[in-house]
Formats: sequence, C-alpha cells, structure tokens
Amino acid sequence: MNILETCMVSKTYQVQNSTIKAVDEVSLSIKAGEFVALVGPSGSGKTTMLAMLAGLLTPSGGSIVINGQPLERMSDSQRTRFRRQNIGFTFQSSNLVPYLSVLENVELMLKVNGRDGRQERQQARDLLVKLGLGDRLNSKPSQLSGGQQQRVAIARSIIHNPDIVLADEPTASLDTERAIQVVSVFAELIHARRLAGVMVTHDLRMCRYVDRVIQMQDGRIRQVLSSRAEIDALAATAD
Ligand code: ADP
Ligand code: MG
Repeated sequence: MNILETCMVSKTYQVQNSTIKAVDEVSLSIKAGEFVALVGPSGSGKTTMLAMLAGLLTPSGGSIVINGQPLERMSDSQRTRFRRQNIGFTFQSSNLVPYLSVLENVELMLKVNGRDGRQERQQARDLLVKLGLGDRLNSKPSQLSGGQQQRVAIARSIIHNPDIVLADEPTASLDTERAIQVVSVFAELIHARRLAGVMVTHDLRMCRYVDRVIQMQDGRIRQVLSSRAEIDALAATAD
C-alpha cells in the first residue's frame, strides 16, 4: 500500500511582480519500506517539495495524501497533530536543542506526543545505542561531531514511530565516510521498520542506499530510476 501519494502538486511563490513555479504538478507515490532519493540541481524545487510532504508548506494546487488522508482537507490544528504523529524529519542543520543532552533531545519528541512513558524512554536509549551513541547519551550536541549530531537528529525523527521520514540534505556537512555511515543507518531503519523515506541529497553517491531516485528539474520530475543497476550507475558517476 502507498503510505504517501501526491497528485499534481504545485507550489508557486510570488516575488514582487513575478511568479515562480517552484514545484510544478508533481505526482508520486511511496510504499511502506521504500527509501527514495530526491535529487536535482539547486533551485529545482526539492526543499519546497519536502516541506509540502511534511505538511509544513501548503501547496498552491494538487493533493497530498498520507495514509489515505488528504492533508488539504485538514484544519491547521488537525494537520499539526497529524504531522507530529505520522511524520518525522531531519534537516541539514540538525536543529538539536543545545542545552539538552543527546538522550533528552530524543525524548523531547516523545514528550511532544505525550508518549514518554518508561518503555518509550527505554526505546530512545536503545535506538541511540544502535546508532553508536551509547556512550554519548548525556553529552550536549556541541560536544559531538557533525556525524554524531546527524545521527541524533535521525533518532529524534524516528523515535515516535512515524510512518514517513523526510530528510533534507542530512549529510551536507559531513565527510564521505560519515555521510555513508549516516545514510546507511537511515536506510536500515527505513527498511526494518517499513517506513516511507524521502531524502533530498546533492551527493549522488548516497543513492546507493535508496530504492528509487527521483530527479527533479525546474520543479518537475525529469527522470525516475528504479532498478538497482540504473541507480548504481548514477551513483558511480559521482565517485
Ligand atoms: P532546491 O531545494 O531544489 O534547491 P527550492 O525548493 O529551495 O529548491 O527552490 C525552488 C525555487 O523556488 C527556486 O527558484 C527558489 O528560488 C524558489 N523559492 C524557494 N523558496 C522560496 C520562497 N520562500 N520565496 C520565494 N521563492 C522561493
Ligand atoms: Mg534545498
């Protein structure tokens, strides 16, 4: 079943007297356990698309349906609650709360959803251990490397068991080795938990870990690569 579906989704921005079509009638669908990369040149509409999928930005046209529920039919408060429960996201800057520890940053997402019982808090610890951060639970974000911070951000985006996880350039500030570590862990979690995952990346090498690549250009889908051979060939062009 498709967890996420968009039908002819568009977003236009008005800048002074001109109209920019940032996303232009994009239709796509993503199944449970499927990890998709959104790639394309700067300005092609990737971040705008992701923000709409996250329910953070309202489309100018078209429809976004998550778990059978159209986002556009929800009131603002319904959408906010729906987003908290069903969607997790990670951004380029990891957006961790600086004065909270690693564990507290992840537990915060449980608190926001009113699910911070003993068992859930143990799951937060277990997830951080799995992500190789077992000895950093009480560290502050500033005491961590960029890769460690991104892994905390991934733990935070996934701890409340969303059905969808979205990441915008999660490896932008990392060297290749750390980037591979972060994306491979992310892929593993998406596959193991049967989530729908979308990652925006400008680093085509990271496509090795995804199941499908959607290339955008000028707000539209230019090409979709679905076979392992095609995707790996694309990734190899960046080596
Ligand atoms: P990408 O993430 O692929 O670089 P964006 O979604 O950020 O692309 O941008 C797509 C287009 O929309 C670009 O032309 C960009 O300048 C424009 N754009 C993005 N955000 C805004 C905004 N808030 N106001 C006006 N134009 C915007
Ligand atoms: Mg962007």
